[in-house]
Amino acid sequence: MFAPDKRLLQIVVKMKDIPRAYASVLELLGSHVNLIETVTYTVDDRAIFSGFAEALFPNESTAEIEKVIFESAMVLECEVIEGSNGVLVDTFHKGLETSSGEPLVLFRRRGLVQMFDEIMRVSGSAGEGMLYNVGVAMGISDGSEILRTWKPGFMAQGFETLLSLFSAFGWGVATSNDRSDQWNLKIRMDDCFECSSETRDGHGCEFVKGFLVGSAKTLLVREIKCEELICRFKGGDHCEFHIEAPPAALPAPAPPAQLSA
Ligand SMILES: [Zn+2]
Repeated sequence: MFAPDKRLLQIVVKMKDIPRAYASVLELLGSHVNLIETVTYTVDDRAIFSGFAEALFPNESTAEIEKVIFESAMVLECEVIEGSNGVLVDTFHKGLETSSGEPLVLFRRRGLVQMFDEIMRVSGSAGEGMLYNVGVAMGISDGSEILRTWKPGFMAQGFETLLSLFSAFGWGVATSNDRSDQWNLKIRMDDCFECSSETRDGHGCEFVKGFLVGSAKTLLVREIKCEELICRFKGGDHCEFHIEAPPAALPAPAPPAQLSA
């Protein structure tokens, strides 16, 4: 967070997980700081409140604000950290992870797009195949993780949920209007990150296409065909992927050979 000329604070409070606790902290903080962004969540049986704030009084120290917070009997621990020169970095949370505990890596979207541009620049026409293959590999990996952690049978109602993951992760806004044929799907992607490049003159969103193939193949256990019919790289104002999955499933992998006694 960057706000020159402001005293920025990060406030982390661990409190009893009871309904009044959060309100009591907000009440106490209200006349001392201006809250900018807050989250609350539960860890074990404790509630955590974490927020970025602007200090209202130039001379009130972080220790004094901590003392104010401790006036609530429901507060167990608290820490107020002050940024310097208008810069504040969250030093409390160490990265994001999925609900199953897998660590996530964050990139700036434009930085990632520039990385793709660089792959294309260095590899020429081979770069598209490379991005496609990278997408397939990531799709297989993510698809396997979903199969491992989500309840079996979620695919029956969970397709919209799956698509909403794209926007949750900042890849673009994916929707599917026509689902009359479950083995022939059209997925519309608005503001797809891959073709948001201002400099690359690509032919299509090969990485996203590969990801759709890899994840659909893993989730549906079928060989998938995917074509990108519309793309911003090709003059469209969004992307549209047509996914075709044959009704016949792939043969199940052979069970591991048994050792005879
Ligand atoms: Zn595209």
